[in-house]
Amino acid sequence: MNDPSRPVLPAEAEVDLRAISANVASLTRHAPSAEVMAVVKADAYGHGLEPSARAARAGGATWLGVAQIAEALRLRAAGDTGRVLSWLHVPGDAFTDAVAADVDLSANATWGVDEIAAAARAAGRTARVHLKIDTGLSRAGASADDWPALVDHALTAQADGLLEVVGIWSHLAWADDPKHPTTDRQAEAFEAALDVAHARGARPEVRHLANSAAALTRPDLHYDLVRPGLAVYGLSPVPDLGGPADFGLRPAMTLRARLALVKQVPAGSGVSYGHAYTTPRATTLGLVPLGYGDGVPRAAGNCGPIWVAGRRHTIAGRVSMDQVVVDLDGRPDVAEVRAGDLVVLFGDGRDGQPTAQDWAEAVDTISYEIVTRIGSRVPRTYLDAGS
Ligand SMILES: *Cc1c(COP(=O)(O)O)cnc(C)c1O
Repeated sequence: MNDPSRPVLPAEAEVDLRAISANVASLTRHAPSAEVMAVVKADAYGHGLEPSARAARAGGATWLGVAQIAEALRLRAAGDTGRVLSWLHVPGDAFTDAVAADVDLSANATWGVDEIAAAARAAGRTARVHLKIDTGLSRAGASADDWPALVDHALTAQADGLLEVVGIWSHLAWADDPKHPTTDRQAEAFEAALDVAHARGARPEVRHLANSAAALTRPDLHYDLVRPGLAVYGLSPVPDLGGPADFGLRPAMTLRARLALVKQVPAGSGVSYGHAYTTPRATTLGLVPLGYGDGVPRAAGNCGPIWVAGRRHTIAGRVSMDQVVVDLDGRPDVAEVRAGDLVVLFGDGRDGQPTAQDWAEAVDTISYEIVTRIGSRVPRTYLDAGS
């Protein structure tokens, strides 16, 4: 910030890579008998894929998880050579590129097994496949009815030397409520699917079921590998049970900006589009250069928490595409607030700054969405071991 040769950024998402490494290390301690797959899909939940992945590896993630093959290929292009699983594919997807790049692939239907086998033939190497069973989320994953045929189909391709069934896995619907009976029912369905696969000859290297919430609260469901995403970035997947610090985590992202203008207005001034806020008194307004074009939820009008030069305020009026306004009324030091002063929308919560969880509660969503939706116009800047 003080480097005179470098222009000041109007806004930035500062990502502390040391926090990501430490969070993964903390997760390895929560799951001592399992390996950790850091989930880095969706640009690492908005934190930036490649740097976040490197930080997760440094913290002890022996696996990385992504939704799409393109994300896995970006990791390989960045030089990552460890185990990477990609799990959400469509017919005709880039399976050959994935197999050639040594990416593990999920399959949940026989067409997927067929396309992966064909890709293995084309790439001239054996593919590694994780078969996914739907244990009660009714999303990705083969139904219990289709499971035996899927296992048999994959084992036939394995016998042909085209692929290896290295994983069997599923995903939980209610892990954010660790006592919800659905989780135990899903665990039973998972056990049943493992038994079916074993009886038919499958000998997977890894069985995996647990997301962040289960990694932190259900040690009985860790199996061989846990797949935390949110917790890697230092946010609590079970905010009703505890905040990040209660689980040994620290939020990695701080969304910050600089005041673009500070000015006085009379009482009764309508603020921003539609005048959804009117100044009750003569006051000082601050202009913040972040809006819904940057991923600030438009629903945060008149309710989004915002920290300006050391104090907490609330967004005044509607969120615009590029900017929001803050009423600085009531602060004793208002005369000292200047354009260029620091604004924090959310961070790790130190010094009373709002958190992504505070934002989630203000606009009735989850912290996942708050960090992941931060747009590409906001530069990501990184703090690392050298910072
Ligand atoms: C996103 C995702 C995860 C990580 O979930 P968190 O709740 O962020 O820990 C794990 N597994 C699958 C299949 C996912 O899609």
